Amino acid sequence: MKLAIIGSGIGGSSLAYFLKDSNMEITVYESREIVGGRMRHVDFKGRPVEIGAGFFHTANRNIMQLTEKLGIEKVELSSDNFGLWDGNKMLYQTNNSDLITTLKLLIRFGFNLIKMQSIVKLVKSNIKQFYEKDEVFHSVPEMIKMMSFDQIYQESFDSNLSNFGVKEKIKTELALPATKYIYHQCGNRGMNGFAGYVSLIASDDEPIYYIKKGNRTLCEILLREARVTLSLKDKVTSIKKEGDRYSITSENGTILYDKVVIATPMEIAKIELINIDKK
Ligand SMILES: Cc1cc2nc3c(=O)[nH]c(=O)nc-3n(C[C@H](O)[C@H](O)[C@H](O)COP(=O)(O)OP(=O)(O)OC[C@H]3O[C@@H](n4cnc5c(N)ncnc54)[C@H](O)[C@@H]3O)c2cc1C
Repeated sequence: MKLAIIGSGIGGSSLAYFLKDSNMEITVYESREIVGGRMRHVDFKGRPVEIGAGFFHTANRNIMQLTEKLGIEKVELSSDNFGLWDGNKMLYQTNNSDLITTLKLLIRFGFNLIKMQSIVKLVKSNIKQFYEKDEVFHSVPEMIKMMSFDQIYQESFDSNLSNFGVKEKIKTELALPATKYIYHQCGNRGMNGFAGYVSLIASDDEPIYYIKKGNRTLCEILLREARVTLSLKDKVTSIKKEGDRYSITSENGTILYDKVVIATPMEIAKIELINIDKK
């Protein structure tokens, strides 16, 4: 059976890896010249600097297991020292000692800090439980429902925090800067609550990691292990259903496949679907 995967980000490359023993003949199409998609880094003075997905949390079971299994060296991101600069002065700064940091933050934010941390812990625990369920979902809203996050997903992060009683000071000095740091986006500009809380998981007590040689190298290794045919700089422009099969037209021509997986957001893929139900 011939399978085409469109996109070599972590979605496409991990799928190829998980199917590596399925006897399928897998081709991965990638419009860019390198694999990894939004897991992306630039080399700075010989070291990778992440400019997309920067780290992964211990709760991310799949990446933790894959890095262990494939012997990929990961580094624990030290969260010992961070602070907030308001343009003139440091509003607060953490310390190498966890105890001193906790005390400093408690002095600044009061017990409201514990309230916010308890929400973050709840979000993390639901994510962990979701892995154990091993259930299939067909859309992001369906996945959110299965994780019991409907309410926080429908509301903005900003109003979510207010509804849970998180005060303005901790919002503007801790929660919103976290979204800016993680996503390069402000959490008070329409970001939903789920995305907002995910960015705060980094402030949790369990370790977070990045891959020493750059996070996108995970995609390279997965694709190599899966022994796929990798078609780089090959943008897919249309997929057409022809009987039981699918013809894929890309910059390099047209090929017929038995199955196709689109592992990229459709908004950016700009792929024309012909004779295919868009749902
Ligand atoms: C700034 C930023 C920071 C982030 N930080 C984190 C983080 O710290 N931790 C974390 O877990 N997540 C983080 N994320 C989210 C994470 O990067 C994404 O969820 C994940 O990388 C998405 O992977 P994907 O495979 O679904 O899609 P993508 O990585 O977008 O891969 C899709 C691939 O398909 C290719 N493609 C698109 N259209 C076509 C076409 N027509 N033909 C051929 N190829 C095509 C694209 O070039 C791309 O390589 C961050 C995202 C951003 C943007």
